[in-house]
Amino acid sequence: MASADGRVDEQRLDLVLLGPAGAGKGTQARLLAARYGIPHVASGDLLRNHRQQGTPLGKKAEDYMQRGALVPDGLVVDMIVRRLREPDARRGVLLDGFPRTLPQAEALDVELAREGRSLKRAVYLKVPTEELIARTSGRLTCRNCQATYHMSSNPPRVQGVCDVCGGELYQRPDDQPDVVGERIRVYLDETLPVVAYYRERGILREIDGTRTIDEVAEAMAGVVQAP
Ligand code: AMP
Repeated sequence: MASADGRVDEQRLDLVLLGPAGAGKGTQARLLAARYGIPHVASGDLLRNHRQQGTPLGKKAEDYMQRGALVPDGLVVDMIVRRLREPDARRGVLLDGFPRTLPQAEALDVELAREGRSLKRAVYLKVPTEELIARTSGRLTCRNCQATYHMSSNPPRVQGVCDVCGGELYQRPDDQPDVVGERIRVYLDETLPVVAYYRERGILREIDGTRTIDEVAEAMAGVVQAP
């Protein structure tokens, strides 16, 4: 929201995290959101919650998600806009997994502008395709809080149990190698244009996502804090 004299509130921090499945967006988004006290809004997490609860949106999204295809823009934009209008998102938000298409990116701009806001940064986590497949095929996700682990490189303290909330860990069906291949293909087709869109606007920063979790987190904080 703009202040009385029309200036955009400098305290706000609106960020987008971009990268294909397995790039480490969820892990980094949790760390960054905690660091800056803004909510982590992950479109995939929200959609999985809708599916678990059997809502009309969850039912509509199911088939697309199982195939590794994108859920139609209208459904996802509506879900995110509702989330952005909740009180805890007024000071800013860290978006993870959204926008994934140019129409979604444009809809986000319109929604933020409505409140006198604009994105400060879009951070693109880059990881080679072979590593993405290795990471996702060993990934474990918490059914309850959606924290992620890796069977060998980042295992939970107790097998099958989430360190954060004690929830049950499972392998997402769409993390199977054949579906991940499709998700990466869709990413290259639909989401790389979004990367180019933010690059043209001068707000894109690219980060090497192959480094350790801590190193990537430091690099992310660096680009977020830079004026
Ligand atoms: P993710 O957890 O981000 O990997 O998302 C899991 C699945 O949810 C994707 O493969 C899509 O089917 C769907 N999804 C998540 N975010 C979006 C989005 N912004 N637009 C369309 N579909 C999405």
